[in-house]
Amino acid sequence: MVALPSETTHPALGRVAKKANESQHGVVHEVSPAPPLDDAGIERALDQLAAIIRSQGLRRSAVRDRIARAALARQGHFTVDELIGDLRRDGGGDAHPATVYRVVPLLVEAGLLKPTLITEGDGSHYERAFEREHHDHLICTACGKVVEFHFEAIEVLQDDIASRFGFELTNHVHELQGICPTCRSGD
Ligand SMILES: [Zn+2]
Ligand SMILES: [Zn+2]
Repeated sequence: MVALPSETTHPALGRVAKKANESQHGVVHEVSPAPPLDDAGIERALDQLAAIIRSQGLRRSAVRDRIARAALARQGHFTVDELIGDLRRDGGGDAHPATVYRVVPLLVEAGLLKPTLITEGDGSHYERAFEREHHDHLICTACGKVVEFHFEAIEVLQDDIASRFGFELTNHVHELQGICPTCRSGD
């Protein structure tokens, strides 16, 4: 039989309960889509990218910046191919697909993007990470609908697990798969 953790046996749950009382972050809430970055935000992101590029001994390039701008302009979750489509429509003709594929990991390294929807399995989805609220994902395996949520309790418990094993948590991917209400209603 598995003993359920309680406030008395699990200090992290006490902290969760305390946070729940202090703020609405103790409650699971759906994360609304991020508002697009304004011009100043885009410049901050490009500066951050430039710092990474410098540290790698590379030179800032117009093509790289254009790819970064297109990626930052994207809402929600997207594939590299969708990003290539945007660049093509906007006349970014010199952004060769191979270049875009090479630049995207650099954008991840610079903290502008992060890989997402990992459990979709093709490893090709990204979303903006720069100046965005941390969130986790609930994915419908039937239709692909994605809900973005934040639940402070999960955040606290993950930190607790890491510290029990002597880890300092720097990142986590938390994805839940299931069937959404529309697909469950079966039409
Ligand atoms: Zn569905
Ligand atoms: Zn997301």
